[in-house]
Amino acid sequence: MSYTAVCSQCGSVLIDEKACPCGGEVAFVFDESVPSGIPSSMWHYGRRLPLTNADPVTLGEGATPLLPAPGLIPGLNLWLKDETRNPTGSMKDRAMSVAFSKARQEGVGRTILLSAGGAGIAAAAYAARAGITNVVVVPEDAPPSRVLLCHLYGSKLVQVKGNVEDVLEIVKLVNQSGEFLEVSTYRRANPYQAEAPKTIAYEIAEFMRSVPEAVVVPIGGGGTLAGIYQGFRDMGAGGIPQMVGVQNRNFAALDIAMKRHLSSLDDLLEVAKEIDSSLPTQTPGLRHAFPPDGVAALAAMRASGGRMVVVDDAEAIYWRERLAVETGILAEPSATTALAAAAKLRESGNFTNGEAVVCIITGAGWRDLPDLAIQTKIPIHTVEAQGRNTLGALLTVADGE
Ligand SMILES: [Zn+2]
Repeated sequence: MSYTAVCSQCGSVLIDEKACPCGGEVAFVFDESVPSGIPSSMWHYGRRLPLTNADPVTLGEGATPLLPAPGLIPGLNLWLKDETRNPTGSMKDRAMSVAFSKARQEGVGRTILLSAGGAGIAAAAYAARAGITNVVVVPEDAPPSRVLLCHLYGSKLVQVKGNVEDVLEIVKLVNQSGEFLEVSTYRRANPYQAEAPKTIAYEIAEFMRSVPEAVVVPIGGGGTLAGIYQGFRDMGAGGIPQMVGVQNRNFAALDIAMKRHLSSLDDLLEVAKEIDSSLPTQTPGLRHAFPPDGVAALAAMRASGGRMVVVDDAEAIYWRERLAVETGILAEPSATTALAAAAKLRESGNFTNGEAVVCIITGAGWRDLPDLAIQTKIPIHTVEAQGRNTLGALLTVADGE
């Protein structure tokens, strides 16, 4: 055993790896330090993940590129951690590789999770890889392309009428029955997967040979930001970047909490009442009135001298288009909120000239293609095949608007 389960609140050792009587969540301490060397997958860091055998359920997740993006935001030394390159196109693959490795190790037959998107797709793929029956509980307004992908990977789909929070409650009840293992991506539901985002920090530090001044992370449930922060902490001496969280303006619970100096779970449950999570959005991954790992995300932002930024749908779409056209990375709008936020912080002077900033590009845009194909008016030019005259027509198209 290379790890010990402990309570995140009181520090007690948790022999059964179940939540502490004090109400704290399951956290882990590890015997071994962070391995160095260039990773070929996330499992390069397997000794820092809470598993007892070396036979992970893997599709080659992690070890994603860290790409320089000079000029995308003038004045910034900008880097993109391209998590779209994971097997199902998002950083959730890291979490699900850990969750399903643990599930298989425990001989679990059925898993369940709540997801409006990326986590569901990732879970479906890793369940297939592990040979485990998986149920994805999707909200009524889940994007059809995401639901399709869960189906194509062989998961069972259930739609429960109600908002995200209602559905969370039902998943919890089902989970407590012991018939399913919950693999939802927040620590209280599944503490094992919550360790996976640390590996993003390990990789950034390894590739940069240093620590950037800031890391910008879109916030859905808050677990990715909290995990990346933990990863930088694990490496100790190199320093810790400012952790910047990004939410959609309409679902900005953590922005409100930062402004009001709130920090507890109860505070966040109160704030959630002010947020209408039924509002339509182009960033469905960020639609949380109550981010379940919000307490840890708030603590990470405060301890690192970071901040919250809110952006709207139009800014996310603008940056999706620019990222694709100017860098060759097709990301989902939920992911490109990170670029919108970095641009704002550069404009306001919070990011200074030449500052090394990493934006986490959390998820790929191809997962939305069926929906986009219907919504987008694609200009296709018709030219006649007329020998050399066709060349002129092609040049007109190429150089035209
Ligand atoms: Zn405790």
